[in-house]
Amino acid sequence: MRGAALAVAVFGLMLAGQTFAWGAGGVVKVRIGGDQRTTRVVVELDRSATGKVLGDDPGKVVLALNGVGSESMRGRGQGLVREWSAEGAGQARVKLAVSRPVTVKRRFLLPPGDGVSVYRYVMDLEATGEAVPASTAPARTTRAADRHGRRIIVVDAGHGGHDPGAQGANNHEKALTLAAARALKARLERTGRYTVVLTRSDDTYVGLERRVAIARQADADLFISLHADSVGDSSLRGASVYTLSERGAERAARRFAGENWVHDGSLGRDPVVTRILLDLTQRATTNRSAVFARVLLDQIADDTLLLNRSHRDAGFAVLLAPDVPAVLLEMGFITNPQDERALADPRRRERLVGGIADAVDAYFAEGGQYAGLTGGL
Ligand SMILES: [Zn+2]
Repeated sequence: MRGAALAVAVFGLMLAGQTFAWGAGGVVKVRIGGDQRTTRVVVELDRSATGKVLGDDPGKVVLALNGVGSESMRGRGQGLVREWSAEGAGQARVKLAVSRPVTVKRRFLLPPGDGVSVYRYVMDLEATGEAVPASTAPARTTRAADRHGRRIIVVDAGHGGHDPGAQGANNHEKALTLAAARALKARLERTGRYTVVLTRSDDTYVGLERRVAIARQADADLFISLHADSVGDSSLRGASVYTLSERGAERAARRFAGENWVHDGSLGRDPVVTRILLDLTQRATTNRSAVFARVLLDQIADDTLLLNRSHRDAGFAVLLAPDVPAVLLEMGFITNPQDERALADPRRRERLVGGIADAVDAYFAEGGQYAGLTGGL
């Protein structure tokens, strides 16, 4: 009973926060999502703020936000957070009661944008107190031992094995994506700045859950999925990049449930694209993914014809889970003779992966600010 009354009270406060502007300015809402390994906390603010994590109580994480206040509010948590509360007139304090010892893996402030009108102070918590599940332990150990400051890039060759992907006149999509993934791995690792993990390195079938699990286990800094488009109209050609958006979440989810949206024109005709994007939404930080998408399009535009409006917005929500910035590159149309020839030509492929690698360099060269590697604010 107490829980029900509390839920109603919290709901009322949230409504008030969204409906009326507070004179003091402050915390609008707290959203929490994730699992027992990693959990994301998003504090929505009506203005900018700087944050600081206080104290060393292993059962609690306290975030002090300078520049904003907060009405007294509280709610139930999720994942590693059992429950949360926020209060403080001059300096808001968001207190998180955690179920296991955690570290704050990263925190950053996202300004309004991309269809969102509030500031979002984001904090990612990672469990430290107990053994992680056996399946993830080796990868995490490897990461700590091998990283040496190198960024970890997961390159995902679309399709494989009994799933050939789209068909060109002379090629299966699965072969073109694998060739490109291998070339990209070689190109990136030559720099000495990256460790590249392939989701598959031969012609085998790898399920989507497994692909995403590989990215998570590798603790990837970036996930690049490679595909080739197909469409009935063989004159259509060009590359395009998919990222995820916070806009239209429910709409996209409903459409996905019916799997109908993939037939909307030429957008997302490949059902694998739909499914992998939906899964990646749970790990993506849209802003960072979008930044990389823009950099990527800039870099490959010199050599590769781009499809009109090539940064396509897949319209999915960030579902508040551990994130790996992710893009899905449709390298061209396998159903277009020129594109297919280019995708199958090793020299043209080198140029394309060179462009992708330049984009990766440019992305991480931003002082890590977009890559979420700068830590606090
Ligand atoms: Zn595909």
